[in-house]
Amino acid sequence: MAKLKLKEIKKFICPTCKGNGYVKVGTESGETIHQCWDCDSEGEFYETTDTLSGDSNGNDDSNDSLH
Ligand SMILES: [Zn+2]
Repeated sequence: MAKLKLKEIKKFICPTCKGNGYVKVGTESGETIHQCWDCDSEGEFYETTDTLSGDSNGNDDSNDSLH
């Protein structure tokens, strides 16, 4: 029996571009738009965390059968 492996995906809004995927930078000649370097123009971060469920039980192969 295989253990259940739950994969959780958490989503964060990129604080640099605030979810836009690009950043406006004001210069003397006006505003220029840069692709966000932090989130790779995604606007969001994804973080996956692996959680093992049912790991509290002892998993040694001792047989409990009485003789
Ligand atoms: Zn960003």
